[in-house]
Amino acid sequence: MVDLLRHAVEPTIWPLYELSAGAWNRGDEVVLIGDAAHAMMPFAAQGAAMAIEDAFELASFVADGKPLAAFVDHRKRRVARVRSRGAFNRFAYHARGPVRLGRDLVLSLRRPESLAADFDWLYGYEPKD
Ligand SMILES: Cc1cc2nc3c(=O)[nH]c(=O)nc-3n(C[C@H](O)[C@H](O)[C@H](O)COP(=O)(O)OP(=O)(O)OC[C@H]3O[C@@H](n4cnc5c(N)ncnc54)[C@H](O)[C@@H]3O)c2cc1C
Repeated sequence: MVDLLRHAVEPTIWPLYELSAGAWNRGDEVVLIGDAAHAMMPFAAQGAAMAIEDAFELASFVADGKPLAAFVDHRKRRVARVRSRGAFNRFAYHARGPVRLGRDLVLSLRRPESLAADFDWLYGYEPKD
């Protein structure tokens, strides 16, 4: 790997950006979905999944004649929870020193099924249809 990097002609860094809080809609005329609305850090591997959920649920809100603000309010709560899980993953996966030892101890005490069940709210989400 070091050799590979040494031979790179112009090595660059691939920065990661996320969007902070802001408006997603302008009245009932325009609404942003996906990364345009809520680009997030990739530590929960859910950015594209959130864009797909957005699209599915937006279709449902529009079909029901609901205001875009209702869609935004509904999706912002879901996205905030996923974003916060990503921040936790970042902390846990990249832990160093005693924190890492503590993390490994906690994980070794949990049954795999119980660990997986912690993610039911994330991967078992039932979009509104
Ligand atoms: C390192 C990394 C790892 C990731 N891993 C995961 C993962 O495991 N799982 C997951 O779910 N997500 C993951 N993501 C996030 C995911 O890639 C994004 O959330 C997702 O691609 C967002 O989709 P989008 O359609 O909203 O935006 P984009 O994919 O950015 O699509 C926007 C499109 O619009 C086009 N465009 C822009 N401006 C214009 C214009 N003026 N006219 C016409 N077209 C235009 C762009 O070229 C682009 O094709 C990861 C992201 C990163 C950076």
